[in-house]
Amino acid sequence: MEQIIRKTEDARASILLIYTGGTIGMRPDEQTGALVPFDFHGIYDEFPSLRRMNVDIAVHTMPKLIDSSNVRPSDWCAIAEVIRNRYEAYDGFVILHGTDTMSYTASALSFMLENLAKPVVFTGSQIPIGVLRTDGRENLITAIEVAAAKIGNEPAVPEVSLLFHSRLCRGNRTRKSSAEELDAFSSPNYPSLAEVGVKITYNTAAIARAEQNNEPLRIATMLSEGVAIIKLFPGIGEYTLRAILSVEGLRGVVLETYGAGNAPTAKWFLDLMRETVERGVMVLNVTQCDNGKVEMQLYETGQRLQSVGVISAHDMTTEAAITKLMYVLGKNLDLEQSIRLMKKPLRGEFTL
Ligand code: ASP
Repeated sequence: MEQIIRKTEDARASILLIYTGGTIGMRPDEQTGALVPFDFHGIYDEFPSLRRMNVDIAVHTMPKLIDSSNVRPSDWCAIAEVIRNRYEAYDGFVILHGTDTMSYTASALSFMLENLAKPVVFTGSQIPIGVLRTDGRENLITAIEVAAAKIGNEPAVPEVSLLFHSRLCRGNRTRKSSAEELDAFSSPNYPSLAEVGVKITYNTAAIARAEQNNEPLRIATMLSEGVAIIKLFPGIGEYTLRAILSVEGLRGVVLETYGAGNAPTAKWFLDLMRETVERGVMVLNVTQCDNGKVEMQLYETGQRLQSVGVISAHDMTTEAAITKLMYVLGKNLDLEQSIRLMKKPLRGEFTL
């Protein structure tokens, strides 16, 4: 762990706050008490302490504010476009997003923003910002501080991250793990990028370095819709599974298996997996466990899956696996190239 060296005196950072909706942006209406959207343009009036941060904050409110349960890939593209169009003007970006699908959006954006060299920090809250006991205030202020932070002259966290409660994590390693606790997100298989206490302590060894290739930011907005997530359970039926896997247009499946990547060895099941793979559908093996990784060679039950061409997702979350499939398949490469991309970490989304 290394302490941040923030050059607040010599350079004001400029941050773009992108508001997409979710609990963080709600406040009780003074007359009715009903929750209504908060106008982040009034952010300095609401939180005067922000003026002391040596950061210039601009606000971009997405045209349609949504509960994140309604988020779609088209919304991810709209966010990516806002970042691309204003990339040169800002030092970093903070995205205010509903918590329910925040890990999906953060994962998707991590793949879609190619050659990213600036911080993109997701945050939200469990309690609306206009409620006295809100966790949104701390999350918002810390996310802005992280997005503006520099180590020397370089951004401290030049990747897509997610700040919640007292932790900054790599976005594509997170999942929402509590519907009630204020500490609502976890990063089961990757260490925090920073711990937030009295100070923000950055774990520089865990933070991705920006590519030094000077390539401009590119956004990938072609995302495949031909994907599905299938969670195995004892008693899963052949006809149901066959119906899902034979659906027209299916190109990729995240198969949530047991333990270290194990699945039934019934003949019908393995034959079905083989037929699916032979039809050119990529099947990715993700564990149902909260942490740990797929190791298909450990048990016969995993080895059989491997032998029919199922691909290991190692320690990837389901959220990262499904969004990576959408991104890779959206490139319309040939199958071999797509498999090669799936087997290689592109944004630190799994550990080999
Ligand atoms: N349903 C809300 C959303 O995801 C919950 C939240 O923001 O915490 O938009």
